[in-house]
Amino acid sequence: MDLPVDEWKSYILQKWSLLPKSIQVTISTAKTLNDLFLHSSPLLQPEDEMFLKRLSGGYLVGKDPDASLFYREKGNKKFQEKDYMGATVLYSKGVSHSGPNSTDISLCYANRSAALFHLGQYETCLKDIVRAQTHGYPERLQPKLLLRKAECLVTLGRPQEASQTISDLESNFAAKPTLSASQFQILQRTLCRVKVKVHEKENLPEVFPEALTKTFEAVALREENEQIPSASSSVSLHRDPLKGRCLVATKDILPGELLVKEDAFVSVLNPGEMPPRRHGLESKWDIQVTNGDLHCHRCLRRTLAPVPCDGCSYAKYCSQECMQQAWDRYHGVECSLGALLLTLGVFCHVALRSALLARFEDVGKVIKTLCGEMSNQGICLPESEDPAQILKYDLRGEGEKKDKAVETPIPGCDINGKYERNYNAVFHLLPHTENHSPEHKFLCALSVSALCRQLEAAGLQAFTTDLKPTKLKAAETPVLCAELNVWGVAMLRHMLQLQCNAQAITTIQHTGSKENLITDTQQVRLATALFPVVSLLNHSCSPNTSVSFIGTIATIRASQLIRRGQEIFHCYGPHESRMGVAERRQKLRSQYFFDCDCPPCERERQRPSAGPGREAFRCHRCRALLQGDDVLSCGGPACMESVSRDLLVSRLQDLQRQVGAAQKRLRDGRLELAIQLLLGCQSDAESFLSADHSVVGEIEDTLAQAYAALGDWEKSATHLQESLRVVEVHHGPSSVEMGHELFKLAQVFFNGCAIPEALNTIQKAEKVLLVHYGPWNDEIQELQKMKSCLLDLLPIPEGPQE
Ligand SMILES: [Zn+2]
Ligand SMILES: [Zn+2]
Ligand SMILES: [Zn+2]
Ligand SMILES: [Zn+2]
Repeated sequence: MDLPVDEWKSYILQKWSLLPKSIQVTISTAKTLNDLFLHSSPLLQPEDEMFLKRLSGGYLVGKDPDASLFYREKGNKKFQEKDYMGATVLYSKGVSHSGPNSTDISLCYANRSAALFHLGQYETCLKDIVRAQTHGYPERLQPKLLLRKAECLVTLGRPQEASQTISDLESNFAAKPTLSASQFQILQRTLCRVKVKVHEKENLPEVFPEALTKTFEAVALREENEQIPSASSSVSLHRDPLKGRCLVATKDILPGELLVKEDAFVSVLNPGEMPPRRHGLESKWDIQVTNGDLHCHRCLRRTLAPVPCDGCSYAKYCSQECMQQAWDRYHGVECSLGALLLTLGVFCHVALRSALLARFEDVGKVIKTLCGEMSNQGICLPESEDPAQILKYDLRGEGEKKDKAVETPIPGCDINGKYERNYNAVFHLLPHTENHSPEHKFLCALSVSALCRQLEAAGLQAFTTDLKPTKLKAAETPVLCAELNVWGVAMLRHMLQLQCNAQAITTIQHTGSKENLITDTQQVRLATALFPVVSLLNHSCSPNTSVSFIGTIATIRASQLIRRGQEIFHCYGPHESRMGVAERRQKLRSQYFFDCDCPPCERERQRPSAGPGREAFRCHRCRALLQGDDVLSCGGPACMESVSRDLLVSRLQDLQRQVGAAQKRLRDGRLELAIQLLLGCQSDAESFLSADHSVVGEIEDTLAQAYAALGDWEKSATHLQESLRVVEVHHGPSSVEMGHELFKLAQVFFNGCAIPEALNTIQKAEKVLLVHYGPWNDEIQELQKMKSCLLDLLPIPEGPQE
């Protein structure tokens, strides 16, 4: 998803392998990204572009009026089945495929408003009613819509507006008596009903809808850092000769303290599971629901009622405002390139969007600088007047810089030493040019070239049109083509930076079937983004912070006590509790180009044979743990048992398959069968796995879910406590994983009315989750609701009777 689709990748790799040796050498040894781009770009032939065009052709990104009708009918079917959520999503897809101001789009909006009404989303329903009306909802259907509007207003406690709507409706009838007698009767009856409700509510105070959306402002740094505005004053920016830039604690930091709160410089919503590319005519429109259907493509907020871009079917937004902002800042250029961007992958998309966003900063300076860099290479661009400015932005790879006229103390900072979330900081993230393979660099260079050619062909003067014209003086002379090359080099740099600097924006998604009363959650990747300040943090396999997201904002909190002078770390992915040391080090070396020397890595390297570990096998005779490499032998006294690792591993795989099958039964609602299978798995696991094995924990957790679905809270709690024990062994007592598991246990106790146990568990869960997420987390809010509900149930202590 990050990189281009496989077909394009292998096409370019083959092209590379067929290049004359001399050209391969020239490209492999290119000293600068500039050289790399200028030597690769001309190799992109028209037939290559044709091939890419064919690949992109498989994505449906434009509007298709037939699809609009198709989705509306599918939505109506769901609506009849009372699956209002499913209907809403399908109507949204219909909306996306309809052109603005068409009957199609107004019908989709109106139908969606009906589904939202049934979901109790009255505010959103009202918005969709207005949308249906502004896009030309047919006159003859208006009464239905107005009635729904009146009902919404009544429910929301806005009687004056409801009365107004009703009198509109009545005058509408009076003016155009086009309804049949029976239709008129139905409407009259409904009207009466609504009028009664209005009357009932009229004496009530106006109720304002509870502000459900989390306010971003509510999350605040205690004291802002003067040097780094997105960080707290408890940290400072250092430059280490070996590790580069890093953040260090300036005072003792308590667990839970907010250290960084940063809005992404750029973010691109991941398309989710790729809609299959269509080959030929037989394929249909997909009705699959992905992240792209449920989240705003600009602010990433979850939305049930997105509004689409007027020009394409794939970009959707939570509101008109988000749509307009996205259009002005980047989508105006991206809109027609949707299929190409899906083919070239998210990294390429982020690279383009970064360059587009750069235009909103001191664009004259940026272009001048980039052009100046080109002119150094003998390209026909005017000399810049200010060499100091040129060198402020350095296009070359790190470690091969020429003498600088002006050197800022730390790369990415401005002249005053301030490090901000801006293009300058993004530009200075390391591309690690020298570490990428020549083939990879060639792939990136040609992908960017293809993008540049498309921008040119579409006549998109992407980087020059009507933006802050006064600042563009310096860029007026260069021809568009040469200027696009400049931006091509910049985008290539971003593509290479992303391998080490891309930050996944994740969200917690609730999974599990409807009858699952306890929440099962799963972290899913929502978007790929660049955060210049978060990027300052170095990696540790056992970090002292925890990262979470609200929309496009990243927050980093201390997850443990951090002493003054200690470095602030976060984890790039390979975490101690999820991967063995060898696997972690291999991953960090291949993706991030460094050898990890964090404390856990060092510790494990010093004593590599630290026993069988948590994921150990055990002897089926005496239950002692087995040890060894290819052949494991029993460590128990007076036991001679030995067994081959291959055999144990295949047994484990077998078991995992069975657990998977049981989980599927659980999702399908076949609870008894699921439990039967799981109990079998449990005794199988007991015979050859250590009690702390993660699969043992998974079995217990699934059993707990199954019993919860049956309403057997006591059994559910027993199994969940077992799972909790395993989670604690693997992740530690104050880990975020522990927090989620405690949350589930609290739900089980709550549902089972085990009041003291529930209160106790809520307290523990709150304590853990608060450190990682702060008070605005959904789970914490829910825990607090449970707590106040339980406290109401507790008997008030009374004095002795009689
Ligand atoms: Zn939005
Ligand atoms: Zn669009
Ligand atoms: Zn490590
Ligand atoms: Zn034994």
